[in-house]
Amino acid sequence: MKSRRRVNSAVRWLPNYMKKVYEAWDDEPDGGITLAEVNIIQTNLANGLLSKDARLLHRIEADTFEEAQAVHNIKMGWSPFVPEGKPKACPQNCGAVFYPEGSGECPNCGRIC
Ligand SMILES: [Zn+2]
Repeated sequence: MKSRRRVNSAVRWLPNYMKKVYEAWDDEPDGGITLAEVNIIQTNLANGLLSKDARLLHRIEADTFEEAQAVHNIKMGWSPFVPEGKPKACPQNCGAVFYPEGSGECPNCGRIC
């Protein structure tokens, strides 16, 4: 409980704290399933990297790509998502961990590396 309070108070003080919106699109049979931030999805749709037949599967609000991917796997009925590399404590001492070999995003502070 103590660590939970610390994280919550850190979040209140972080001006850049904002969840991002991710979308999962089904572009089978050729394009597979894509999970990305909405702006990337929109670019892919505009550039034809997602076909006109692609359909939205679900939308996820998350702090990091790892969090979005974990929820995505649950919604897809897939095995639990395993983040890339080992978690490390956020260098800004907010109390959270991040994945330097993955997204490099702290759930509280945003992009670290
Ligand atoms: Zn942090």
